[in-house]
Amino acid sequence: MVRINCRIIPEPQEGTRPIYKNNERKIEPFIVGEGDLDYICGKCDNVIAQSVSRSQIASDAVFQCPNCQSFNEVE
Ligand SMILES: [Zn+2]
Repeated sequence: MVRINCRIIPEPQEGTRPIYKNNERKIEPFIVGEGDLDYICGKCDNVIAQSVSRSQIASDAVFQCPNCQSFNEVE
């Protein structure tokens, strides 16, 4: 498994990019797949996406970490 740190970005302007949020504030990955990459919050090391392949994540997707509320993008 390869762990990849996401990049922390400012909150995107509403409607400009797809933003994944966990409204229930559950600390769990947004995506669980069968690839060999783990994407990790760039601030707190929480797992954003687990066992995924790169093509599973849209390049403009933004994930708000349910643990620290930071906005993450994949590189
Ligand atoms: Zn975090």
